This record gives sequence, C-alpha cells and structure tokens, in this order.
Amino acid sequence: MKKKARNSGDNDVDPARSAQMALVRGRDTKPEIRVRKALHAAGLRYRLHDKKLPGSPDLVFPGRRIALFVHGCFWHRHPGCVAARLPKSRLEFWGTKLAGNVERDKRNHVALEATGWQVIVIWECETRDPQRLADLASKIRERERIKRPNRRGG
Ligand code: ZN
Repeated sequence: MKKKARNSGDNDVDPARSAQMALVRGRDTKPEIRVRKALHAAGLRYRLHDKKLPGSPDLVFPGRRIALFVHGCFWHRHPGCVAARLPKSRLEFWGTKLAGNVERDKRNHVALEATGWQVIVIWECETRDPQRLADLASKIRERERIKRPNRRGG
C-alpha cells in the first residue's frame, strides 16, 4: 500500500510551470538525452532536429526513414497520463494552447508519413523506463535499411 514518493513535497508544483521551465532549458531536455544515450548505446546512429522535415523530429534515422519524436507529456497531451493533467488555473488558456500543439503534431506526422517516413513517438514518462527504451531500440533496428535512399521525390 505504500506509495513511493520519490519527489517528496512535489505535489504542489504547477505542471504548466514545470513544463515551461523544461522548455526554457531548451532542446537538450532530459527525456531526449535519455533516449539519445540509450539508442546510441544500442549502436544506433541518428541525426538531431532535422529542420528539413515537418516538425523537425528530435531524432532522425535517415537510412531507415524513421522520424522519432520525444514528446513532453504536458505539452503534447499524452493521453491518460497524469503528467498531462491541466492546471486548475487558466484552464481555458492552457486547453486552447495545448490543443494547438496536438493539432500541429498530427499535421507533422501525416506529412512525414505521406513522404514515406515512419513516425515513432516516445513520451517523456516512458523515457524513464529502461525496458521501454530497449524496446524502442529493437523497434528501430527491426526496420530494414533502405539501400538506395536517393530516390527522387516531388
Ligand atoms: Zn506521459
């Protein structure tokens, strides 16, 4: 029955505020670094933040045509996740703002898939699970390399 409280006294932290602070810290957020380290250790090589692709995916595996996004649970609305709960204050503001993020994510994923990319999303909360990261590495490895990626697209 005992609930492990790793961050004791963190209950009153405003999720919006902590997410905002994470955003201010910039691109090299902890979840993303956890993913990078795990995949690198698994022998996978990738490009970071490819701006030529819709949504500039956090990690890109060009040989396998995989675009990987490491999504913050709050900002990208991880369905059913406690970390995605909206703050009670300014509910309407956050609701609208974050719905916009979700819409944009959807558009980016559709655009990527339309050009032959496989889109994988790993959520911030999942990056704390080593098993989940190992599964992600095998999922990426399973996808066959494309021998000749120089096919011309429109
Ligand atoms: Zn989550």
